[in-house]
Amino acid sequence: MVYVSSHASGNSPAQSSASGPNQEWEASCNAFSLITQNVDGLHQAAGNRNVLELHGNIRVNRCLSCGRELDHEPEQYVRGVPYCACGGKLRPGVVWFGEMLPERVLEQAFNDARACDLFVVIGTSSVVYPAASLPEIAHESGALTIEVNLEPTPFTPNADFHLGATASAAVPALVNCWKACNKS
Ligand SMILES: [Zn+2]
Repeated sequence: MVYVSSHASGNSPAQSSASGPNQEWEASCNAFSLITQNVDGLHQAAGNRNVLELHGNIRVNRCLSCGRELDHEPEQYVRGVPYCACGGKLRPGVVWFGEMLPERVLEQAFNDARACDLFVVIGTSSVVYPAASLPEIAHESGALTIEVNLEPTPFTPNADFHLGATASAAVPALVNCWKACNKS
């Protein structure tokens, strides 16, 4: 199963306890991917393990020369600019406007969307591509799709279920349903 969340939409893991509903959901699945456009690393902080960050992570620095990603403080600064040990300049590990999304992460997201049996898309307007094509791919590949969004979106006509609710209201209920259905 795959679960996509876009922007925090009132369900920021920062507001929930260390083991939030997303983490509970992942723990009760054989395969679970959380695909996100958030860059704040909060899903991981809330306990999710398989997180695909389409827009990178603000807590990581990437070297412009060797491509290395650093998840700790850079060793050296020159006039306030952080540098990699190789001498290359470091930049935040996020995708800036107009840049390509990270290829490997995107490929994994597409693969997961094709392979999953349940795809839940939460709090996204489903208009920005390529992320918006993920629920469509899941739908075309035969997955059950559930959309959680206050407003209808371009994906709504294709969704098996549209829940006009906030993530914070809908997700804990969905997790309870999921657990009840999988109790055997
Ligand atoms: Zn480097």
